[in-house]
Amino acid sequence: MSVLHISGVSKTFTGGTVALQATDLQVEENDFITILGPSGCGKSTLLRMVAGLDSPTTGSIALDGKPVAGPGADRGMVFQSYTLFPWLTVLQNVCFGLREKGMPLADQHALARQFIAKVGLNGFENHFPKQLSGGMQQRTALARALANAPRILLMDEPFGALDHQTRELMQELLQGIWEAEQKTVLFVTHDIDEAIFMGNRAVVMSARPGRIKCDLPVPLPHPRH
Ligand code: ADP
Ligand code: ADP
Repeated sequence: MSVLHISGVSKTFTGGTVALQATDLQVEENDFITILGPSGCGKSTLLRMVAGLDSPTTGSIALDGKPVAGPGADRGMVFQSYTLFPWLTVLQNVCFGLREKGMPLADQHALARQFIAKVGLNGFENHFPKQLSGGMQQRTALARALANAPRILLMDEPFGALDHQTRELMQELLQGIWEAEQKTVLFVTHDIDEAIFMGNRAVVMSARPGRIKCDLPVPLPHPRH
């Protein structure tokens, strides 16, 4: 069974903007799909509906066969703006969802430290977001999303605000985590280099109204140059 089943999904906003039309997408276990397309083609709208932050006008979205209704810990979200809690340290940010689940503090810390190490932030556990670079903040956001063991990781232009070199490092980090840990990922971008460097499928959308135009395999490995 597919992890995520998007069927006949359309979205018309109040005011009449048709952001998305008749969209079908099946996401299989361990797929890393980049969703590529120009600004305004409905990429964020699609991702936000999977996240449960918005709802389709028509059609259905199901995760593991269950209709999506609102946000949930089974979907880990990473946005372009790092959206860390500024009053919490790196460790506390990564623990956030674990605390919500009621995990004992010692277990929270042990698990969070594993993910902090995975994203290369050893030694920064007690830093606050404002003491970190953009790339490091996004590493923290990634660790926080992964620590909750989501069924699917949803990323909306997560590296879009980073400089070119940091962006490449983050792409390599994410690609490595996906290859090592069998994650299922939906990753929105308007950068074609990003779409052919990461993942195993590239879904290309076009605007007016937003639609999926093609769904292409991205062969491994991904040589950078
Ligand atoms: P993308 O992420 O591909 O840039 P979006 O999903 O953000 O595209 O937007 C798709 C279309 O829907 C655009 O025309 C955008 O202006 C419109 N749109 C997005 N969000 C809203 C909203 N909350 N209200 C009205 N229109 C919206
Ligand atoms: P992106 O291209 O990354 O989706 P946008 O600048 O299009 O970013 O949208 C940023 C936010 O503004 C989103 O939450 C989106 O839903 C909202 N938005 C986009 N277009 C409109 C619109 N025409 N009316 C109201 N809200 C909008």
